[in-house]
Amino acid sequence: MVDVRGVHKGFGPLEVLRGVDLRVRAGEVTVVLGPSGSGKSTLLRTINHLEKVDRGWISVDGELIGYRRSGDKLYELKEKEVLRQRTRIGFVFQDFNLFPHLTVEENLVEAPVSALRRPRKEARETARRLLERVGLAGRAGTYPRQLSGGQQQRVAIARALALEPKVLLFDEPTSALDPELVGEVLDVIKDLARSGTTMIVVTHEIGFAREVADTVVFMDGGVVVEQGPPSAVLDNPRQERTRAFLSKVL
Ligand code: ADP
Ligand code: MG
Repeated sequence: MVDVRGVHKGFGPLEVLRGVDLRVRAGEVTVVLGPSGSGKSTLLRTINHLEKVDRGWISVDGELIGYRRSGDKLYELKEKEVLRQRTRIGFVFQDFNLFPHLTVEENLVEAPVSALRRPRKEARETARRLLERVGLAGRAGTYPRQLSGGQQQRVAIARALALEPKVLLFDEPTSALDPELVGEVLDVIKDLARSGTTMIVVTHEIGFAREVADTVVFMDGGVVVEQGPPSAVLDNPRQERTRAFLSKVL
């Protein structure tokens, strides 16, 4: 579903991604671990083309992200086509990023109506169904500020699902939450995992990784240092850098 090949990305002289390879099969959950500054957020942002890669390529569901191939040449897609690609790649941010001036329901209805041209009535019905799924039935008319952080993040997940994404990307979805609210958000993500949603989750929640991940990826210094099933990467890491990191977070 997601194929990342030899991706390089720098900001000025700073090389942040230095040849990242990653493959995520449909229906699988990949958890990305790594120290702060190792390039995890940048990797997620290149997958939905919030950042352009310098070298390498990324495809999602067989479609090259940001480019069109013609013969052996690559052409940059127009902004409109990039936006179309982006609508099918859900992104859940650390700080929720809900529209503060819109109700919960409007947060879920806005993009399907404007980007996917769904009839408003249908988008509303989908919104209600998704809110129920994340345990927020009855909150449709509420504004984000009236909700707890955990509830806001569940709305953000429902909003991402409203676009029927091929893959959901989570960037430290529980890092901004008070500890007692982390569980309710992880439970929603676990439920999605069980229903076969393809996901890439950047998180420091090792317990979650152990329980839910099909693959754990450890990144450091802009490369994938080690990847494999949780039992291998978390319990028997082969690389010294992975061991050093785990000894600090476990
Ligand atoms: P992580 O999510 O693993 O903590 P990031 O991908 O956010 O790492 O950042 C990796 C490095 O890239 C950091 O040193 C960060 O300061 C730098 N960086 C990220 N985005 C930008 C940007 N837009 N401009 C300049 N530097 C950036
Ligand atoms: Mg980050």
